[in-house]
Amino acid sequence: MSFTIGVLSIQGDVKENILSAKSAIDELGIDGKVIDVKTPEEISQLDGLIIPGGESTTIGKLSLVNGSLKVIKEKIEGGMPVLGICAGMIMLSNTVNDRIVGKTDQPLFGIFDIKLERNSFGRQRESFESNISLDSINIPKFNGVFIRAPSVSDVGSDVEILSKFNNRIIAVKKGNVIGTAFHPELTEDTSLHKYFINLVKISKN
Ligand code: GLN
Repeated sequence: MSFTIGVLSIQGDVKENILSAKSAIDELGIDGKVIDVKTPEEISQLDGLIIPGGESTTIGKLSLVNGSLKVIKEKIEGGMPVLGICAGMIMLSNTVNDRIVGKTDQPLFGIFDIKLERNSFGRQRESFESNISLDSINIPKFNGVFIRAPSVSDVGSDVEILSKFNNRIIAVKKGNVIGTAFHPELTEDTSLHKYFINLVKISKN
């Protein structure tokens, strides 16, 4: 059975995620397509959604204005798998603090019971790469690319911690919702996209 994965194309690194998801589908040898989506109508057709990294305040404000925020929230609450990357993970969370400016009052999808610290590793010039591991989902080694990355400062019950770096939580999962502080689409390694696509496939069956 085929499926459609959307990459939210309001702002951020959309193209890179489309390429990674397409490569992952090819490598898995399964039948599925990847499209960029923006409007509530496009989003309502999806079987899975990737929310890319970028600037969470922009993604939040624009998705509120164009009506997609409400549909995304409803779809995720209805069980649609979602992968939120960096700003995408911020959008999924229900409480956000900025390391520098404190509590932010930004629009969020707010469906993930996690507390986020924005810019947790510093500003743009403090961006870095490091080896990380996500053992519980069989990804023992992954190149983590961190760009003004957030970290998860608190998790609600049943939220699985997939990875930590320097004692900070950098990847989480609850049911079909996954969040990462790092950018898998900026590496050649498609294992995290493959993991996500398998979730979409299973939830569609
Ligand atoms: N710091 C950005 C934000 O708060 C996220 C950075 C990123 O997605 N690379 O939205």
